[in-house]
Amino acid sequence: GSGDLHGEVVVLGSGPGGYTAAFRAADLGKKVVLIERYDTLGGVCLNVGCIPSKALLHAAKVITETEEMSGHGITFAKPEIDADGLRGWKNSVVKQLTGGLGGLAKARKVTVVNGYGNFTGANSIAVETEEGTKTVTFDQCIIAAGSKPVHLPFIPHDDPRVVDSTGALELDPIPARMCVLGGGIIGFEMATVYAALGSEVTVVEMMDQILPGADKDIVKPLHKRMESRLKDIKLKTKVTAVEALDEGLKVTFEDGKGDETTEIFDKMLVSVGRSPNGGKIDADKAGVKVTDRGFIEVDHQQRTNVPHIFAIGDVVGQPMLAHKAVHEGKVAAEVAAGEKRAFDAQVIPSVAYTDPEVAWVGVTETQAKAQGMKVHKGVFPWAASGRSLSLGRSEGLTKLIFDPEDDRVIGAGIVGPNAGDLIAEVALAIEMGADAVDLGHTIHPHPTLSETVNFAAEMFEGTITDLM
Ligand code: FAD
Repeated sequence: GSGDLHGEVVVLGSGPGGYTAAFRAADLGKKVVLIERYDTLGGVCLNVGCIPSKALLHAAKVITETEEMSGHGITFAKPEIDADGLRGWKNSVVKQLTGGLGGLAKARKVTVVNGYGNFTGANSIAVETEEGTKTVTFDQCIIAAGSKPVHLPFIPHDDPRVVDSTGALELDPIPARMCVLGGGIIGFEMATVYAALGSEVTVVEMMDQILPGADKDIVKPLHKRMESRLKDIKLKTKVTAVEALDEGLKVTFEDGKGDETTEIFDKMLVSVGRSPNGGKIDADKAGVKVTDRGFIEVDHQQRTNVPHIFAIGDVVGQPMLAHKAVHEGKVAAEVAAGEKRAFDAQVIPSVAYTDPEVAWVGVTETQAKAQGMKVHKGVFPWAASGRSLSLGRSEGLTKLIFDPEDDRVIGAGIVGPNAGDLIAEVALAIEMGADAVDLGHTIHPHPTLSETVNFAAEMFEGTITDLM
């Protein structure tokens, strides 16, 4: 039809992976069409993920910090929480970013088509737009369809008191009693927000630690601090039933020994993971293979089994993180434009933006142990960091993991305020092949939290010996 479009590169989905790929391909001279079902660009990360959650976490941090100052000689009045005002501010942060993306797309002459897209062949996608179906044809395509929250069959997800992360970000309402099912990054970030806003929060996690994936010693300071801010953290516990009653959600817990208890909650966040959207785009019509779980397999150049179709971001696998999607988006766009590129990043950092933050990168001790791999470590407790103490905090820890063969740094775990920013230095060190001496001999500004990386390397070298 007259509204039909052709792109040399067509990108399906406008999350961090998709918009990065679209912009990069356009910068490299390609005629690009970007397909997005929602009105705003930015995908999960900008609209209902990374950014709104960080705005709310900032509010939570201000609340807890002012509370804690009362022990240091300054007492603030109890905060008055206006959920509408806070939601409005969070939404304005999101709007500024998504609007910015719209401007960047225009500036690059990327054509945005709003509507749900499904493949109809190896070179075409049908998009259900408000003006009817548009056919978008392509020479090359980049699938960036992302992921969605996992729903559990025994949970009444249609009850408005049961929410996923998107619902939780709406703060509507801020309940008296909240249950967070899943003690991973998203669950713990939202638990932090609701606890600061006044909810009594219970987190329940099946594994024997919160933030499974991070080393236990790195997670412990967060666990300890949150034990005092939350009503309960239940480990090795399963939720086996949720009953929607008038007086609340009746939740049945089964602990490690098989004993059952029930409790009533006003709201429940189900944050048990995310599943890829690969199975919902008729990929088979283009010949693209999708796994049973909905992932699309790709090679080191982000190509699917169909050479002119690429895939990036959450839809290609773990870790489901925005910075991984962005990196893959650049690789796919550059390969599509004829450049010799491949995904060759050695490490992808993970961060929980809780309070304290927990960050890890590269090899963890748990992983090393599981693989029978010998590692050395240097650990610096923040109780000896002047900067940390002057923030009123002493629970942090910086741990560096070294290859015993050549002392190169191969991993790190950091817990403490701003750990997420600090982990970037170690990621760079790993990519550059830096060793303990490099990190130990680099002059870090004093007094900063970044010194803890420097000191952890010195602890390993044995040049700091009189600590504590
Ligand atoms: P998505 O962001 O999922 O975007 C996919 C886009 O494709 C969506 O806009 C969708 O509407 C569109 N789409 C899908 N199918 C179609 C179709 N058929 N037709 C048209 N459009 C379609 N990651 C971090 O790195 N740091 C964080 O702090 C962080 N915090 C998070 C907090 C929360 C609450 C959540 C839920 C996630 C968080 N994440 C975070 C994860 C991060 O949001 C994702 O890893 C990231 O958004 C993945 O990007 P993507 O490009 O693969 O896809």
